[in-house]
Amino acid sequence: MKPYNVLLIEDSPADAGLIREMLSEVGDPTFELDHADRLAKGLERLSAGGIDVVLLDLSLPDSEGLTTLFRVRDQAPRVPIVVLTGLRDVSRAAKAAEEGAQDYLIKGKVDSSTLGRSIRYAIQRTRAENAEWNSPMFRLAHQQFLKAAQIIDLDDNIRERLLFPQRTLVVTFPFRRDEYAEVETVFGYRVQHVLSMGPTKGGVRYHQDVTLGEVSALAMWMTWKCALMHLPFGGAKGGVRIDPTGLSRRELQRLTRRYTSEISGMIGPDRDIPAPDLGTNEQVMAWMMDTFSQQVGHPVPAVVTGKPVVLGGSLGRKEATGRGLVYLIQESASQVGIDLDKSTAVIQGFGNVGSNTARFLEALGVKIIAVSDVATAIQNPAGLAVSSLLEHVERHKTLQGFTGGEAMTNAEMLELPCDILVPAALQNQITAENAPRLNCRLLAEGANGPTTLAADEILNRRGIFVLPDILGNAGGVTVSYFEWVQDTQNYTWSLDDINSRLHKIMTDAYRRTMVRAKRDSLDMRTAALVEGILRVSEAKLARGLFP
Ligand code: NAD
Repeated sequence: MKPYNVLLIEDSPADAGLIREMLSEVGDPTFELDHADRLAKGLERLSAGGIDVVLLDLSLPDSEGLTTLFRVRDQAPRVPIVVLTGLRDVSRAAKAAEEGAQDYLIKGKVDSSTLGRSIRYAIQRTRAENAEWNSPMFRLAHQQFLKAAQIIDLDDNIRERLLFPQRTLVVTFPFRRDEYAEVETVFGYRVQHVLSMGPTKGGVRYHQDVTLGEVSALAMWMTWKCALMHLPFGGAKGGVRIDPTGLSRRELQRLTRRYTSEISGMIGPDRDIPAPDLGTNEQVMAWMMDTFSQQVGHPVPAVVTGKPVVLGGSLGRKEATGRGLVYLIQESASQVGIDLDKSTAVIQGFGNVGSNTARFLEALGVKIIAVSDVATAIQNPAGLAVSSLLEHVERHKTLQGFTGGEAMTNAEMLELPCDILVPAALQNQITAENAPRLNCRLLAEGANGPTTLAADEILNRRGIFVLPDILGNAGGVTVSYFEWVQDTQNYTWSLDDINSRLHKIMTDAYRRTMVRAKRDSLDMRTAALVEGILRVSEAKLARGLFP
């Protein structure tokens, strides 16, 4: 887990030394400590950014009492403050808490465990207060939607209804790690954007930065995606704010079961059907299915998709997002004038979507010249063998240490000259800052929300063809739909059947988007959004108003 950056503003060298020692004893997450012995120095450090929490002594040589708190708060209003106080000044520290400090600790009574816990909770509470809706991703989803709504002159009332999700659930629950006695509080979410189209559908994401706004943006995109693909679902999404990469299997299982239990009233085969997303996989879906089934007292395979085949999962679901994306890369290659078996690709993210995309592209003769994950990026102009990359990741969990290429940063990799660039990791990767330097002809979005609106405009101007996320990565939800149909009918389909149906649904949606783009002179993203939004709007109007 990433260390937290702590700024200690404390003039007593003895107290500062003690705090440093205590922080060094705290386990996961760890802390990086910056120390300032004057308020002025502390404010200067804060203005440079990157601080997660301030530990503050209110009595300093250059500032005294609540004024100290106010000056820190004015400098960095979103950074949580934990006040350090002596026994005699407790009432003043309590006053500081009333005035916005997240917590106070009494010097002499604090140990490494209470200190670590107080810092962690202060950061968590502030994130919850500051950032739940205030997410760049939610803003991006809004901007994209409002732009498309404007173009189609969407009914005002429907526009207002679609801007926010219909149902949101925020849960907090206790979680115990294997090695630590203490229990921590974890935030989880489930958001259902539109309930007019059928049950809702969408993945569950485990990531340390997940917020309500991010999950809501993803739920909104699921609505447009399902509508664009003509699937009978509204959009939903779930998330848990935790870094899954540091969890043991037992921890992951405990976390998943408790999260499922907390959201179980909201999900079900006829209500809302979760699936894997960033940081979750088949095994997580198996535990979700089992937990839900235990609660209702009988097996309910259709409550989640993306399960192992042995539990009612569908053949072809695991690789469906990559396969679907590659079907559309094949469709658009002729449009862009790319000869696939002479072309090169760069892929950001080597998880489910990235690795499968790499596999299918390689099978078509595309040379994979660079791939990356959270730890590193690897390039080899002569081509990387996908099977060797997969073997390495299977053994080491990450691409770090792979010897068949040269290491570089993710940011550098995005700008490598190539024919096809596939972002398949996180949102917000292609921005106005790097878009002018992208060196690809086709941007095939496996990730959700990888490109900002400002970057889109630059890419359009530069003539880079974009396969937008809600179209490009829709293979996952399409085969999830097949899985749900098979589960509810207790009848399984062959892999050939699944792949040919997937191909038809993907290419039909591609053609509809292309026709719309050409007819209304729109870029591919706006055309795909318009197709999805129009269908949802039509359904909403047909259902009318209750009561
Ligand atoms: P995953 O957890 O299987 O893999 C994610 C990959 O991204 C990993 O290799 C990870 O190391 C890498 N990564 C994480 N942070 C990174 C960073 N900062 N820089 C570079 N790489 C980073 O997740 P996934 O299921 O492959 O999902 C990837 C993206 O695709 C997400 O945006 C997700 O919403 C989207 N998506 C997934 C599916 C699906 O079926 N799994 C369907 C549609 C869209």
